[in-house]
Amino acid sequence: MTIRVYNTLSGEKEEFVPVQPGKVGIYLCGPTVYKPSHIGHAVGPVIFDAIKRYLTFRGYQVTWVVNITDVEDKLIAEAAAQNLPVFTLAERITENYNDAMRRLGVTGIDHMPKASEYIPDIIAYVQRLIDKGAAYPSGGDVYFDVTADRDYGKLSNRSPDEQFGQRELQSGQKRHPGDFALWKESKPDEPNEVKFASPWGQGRPGWHIECSVMSMKLLGETFDIHGGGMDLIFPHHENEIAQSETATDRPFAKYWLHNGLTRFNTKKIAKSDPEMAKFMEKMVLTRLLDEYGGELLRYLILSTHYRSPIDFSDAEMAAKSKALSTFHRLFERIERVTGRSPYADLLTLEQAPVAGLDAFVAEVGGFRERFVQVMDDDFNTAAAIAVLFELAARVNRFIDENKVESAPQDTTRMATLGAGRVLVELGRLLGLFLEPPVRRSGGSEKLDAVMRVLIDIRQHCRKNKDFATADLIRDKLVEEGITLVDRPGGTEWQMSQ
Ligand SMILES: [Zn+2]
Repeated sequence: MTIRVYNTLSGEKEEFVPVQPGKVGIYLCGPTVYKPSHIGHAVGPVIFDAIKRYLTFRGYQVTWVVNITDVEDKLIAEAAAQNLPVFTLAERITENYNDAMRRLGVTGIDHMPKASEYIPDIIAYVQRLIDKGAAYPSGGDVYFDVTADRDYGKLSNRSPDEQFGQRELQSGQKRHPGDFALWKESKPDEPNEVKFASPWGQGRPGWHIECSVMSMKLLGETFDIHGGGMDLIFPHHENEIAQSETATDRPFAKYWLHNGLTRFNTKKIAKSDPEMAKFMEKMVLTRLLDEYGGELLRYLILSTHYRSPIDFSDAEMAAKSKALSTFHRLFERIERVTGRSPYADLLTLEQAPVAGLDAFVAEVGGFRERFVQVMDDDFNTAAAIAVLFELAARVNRFIDENKVESAPQDTTRMATLGAGRVLVELGRLLGLFLEPPVRRSGGSEKLDAVMRVLIDIRQHCRKNKDFATADLIRDKLVEEGITLVDRPGGTEWQMSQ
């Protein structure tokens, strides 16, 4: 069976045939590190992390690159506003991004190249384009000549005349309105750390060339998959193709995969409105991770097909949380009836002593096959999750029908555990079910009521400035495996399993 992917370049689903047999190179446009990551920054990495996990499962050796844009206008402006060195701010924000990735279970990134570390390569590349007659210096800038690329516009189906909305500041003289900056002359008020010496004077690279150079340097001049949000198709990816293919005379990325963007169920707010800034603050990823946890956010992103927009709202999160808990409840049930956790047990269903239950074993195998089928079809994680739900329902029914809870037998217990294990393994191909969830409450109402009393007493102590007692309560609870989490709306408690 072959994997098929929707390629933005052809507008069609194509058979996936990597450039080198058995190996896959993936490049995903990463963040410009000037502000803490928001929910939108989670989408691409979660999707491509799932794609990498799946391709690895299908036997490929995958190298995945996500770049860090640490030389860029917005970052320079933000660093100036905060009175910080550019790279100090960049490092801080990169740290924040990496922390969020860890919590989302995004563990598959192999390289995170920083633009600032590739300046000599970028300069050599710009020179190569000038030597080919496809780029020209103008003032202290260097521009790519879009008329040098005969098939410019093939990704977005736009002509060079429509080359608007580019991120570069436009200085210098362009020959054609569609030409875009490969190199930009430094402005006098910019900090020295982002002024790089070049044959065209002090300056810094444009955003598009950064991605072209880092991707080709790490994955080769022709590589397999280039990803990014739909909003990057034009001009960013179009320009990456133009400058890369003009320089090398060979295809750049073979498959272009674009993910849908986050959609907020909120009244329209203009970007300039202060309300928007407030709203985006709420959408800061580490905050959402505190509130919902990494698995639920990951589940939200993967429960929609990657090319569709992702709806984000409190109501949507509540619905997803309920859906995800179906699996958690089943895993708890399996642990209860078998005495073993499907998270930890490595026994496969095929190895389990389940004599007489061949039909059930075959049925579970059928779910596994369907999971692979839908994932092979353009990484349809939404359909894959639907298969997981059906499998979960089947396991619950098996437990009921065979009275595994009230009258367990060795074979039915082992079959229950083995099927639960299949569910965990398939979920993990999406990066779900990596570890048992942190319980928000111990399950009993009495315990919750007692915890409320303790939280109130602690609150009372703090009000009276008796911080020693307040801390004592917190520390004693930690010893019992209970963590108090202070949030704007009040204190919550969590119990680790
Ligand atoms: Zn890029």
